[in-house]
Amino acid sequence: MSKPQQTIEKAVSYQGIGLHSGEPVHMVFRPAPEDTGIVFVRTDIEGQPSVRAHIDNVTNTMRATTLENGEAKVFTVEHLMAAFSAMNIDNCYIEMDSPEPAVGDGSSAVFIKLIEEAGIVEQAAPRHIYKVTRSHAIYDGDRFVLILPYDGYRMTFTSINSHPLLGIQQCDFEVSPEYFKEHIGSARTIGFMKELEQLQAMGLAKGGSLDNALVYDDEKCLSVPRFDDELVRHKALDVIGDLFLLGPIEGHVIALKSSHELNSRLARSIMEEIRETQP
Ligand SMILES: [Zn+2]
Repeated sequence: MSKPQQTIEKAVSYQGIGLHSGEPVHMVFRPAPEDTGIVFVRTDIEGQPSVRAHIDNVTNTMRATTLENGEAKVFTVEHLMAAFSAMNIDNCYIEMDSPEPAVGDGSSAVFIKLIEEAGIVEQAAPRHIYKVTRSHAIYDGDRFVLILPYDGYRMTFTSINSHPLLGIQQCDFEVSPEYFKEHIGSARTIGFMKELEQLQAMGLAKGGSLDNALVYDDEKCLSVPRFDDELVRHKALDVIGDLFLLGPIEGHVIALKSSHELNSRLARSIMEEIRETQP
């Protein structure tokens, strides 16, 4: 028997600031009907334009994933999308009065908490889980991300970083709400002091601080790590968020130093397969 689609039980709200914009944002998650998907609604724009979280609406992947549909633009959606993916939420409206969701603590933790606070309800229609039928691989120099057919949803990630405290980190797990909540969802974005100045000069990371990122200088970690291998756990979280722009999928993702750009290219490649098999 196929699993039913799920939405949240009641509306919940959250107030915070965006990582890149530094702008305050008020967010409301609302239950949505079957086959709505995850839809962002810009309540600060006249007519409340909306954009569905779908790979076809991705316009930019530099540092963060951006979705656009006409006037409706939102960016840095990946941590929120990872929470919806891992918690198996198919349908939800996300109202925001600013283009960027709250950074929270730099992980998916606040979004998991919000979903749990709202409750999860099953809907009548079955989930459309896409099971990949062939392998897809995206390479860029010394990085790659690929997906293989697999009975379930599995994530294997290797990160290699030249920082003396980071080095090689690996993770390999089946994506489930329980595993994600305990081991992945609270892993935060990594930041380096020397990059932060560059980013801020580019108008990015204005809301970044020691509270919402795991920050390193050349020798040491300035934040308190939650895991020894928090970096690779967060990288896996980002892949889960980026691939949920396809809706729920089954496959085994294997990645080495993958980025949002590579993840989005993989999602586009899988989308081509979906279109071929489901005309
Ligand atoms: Zn991230």
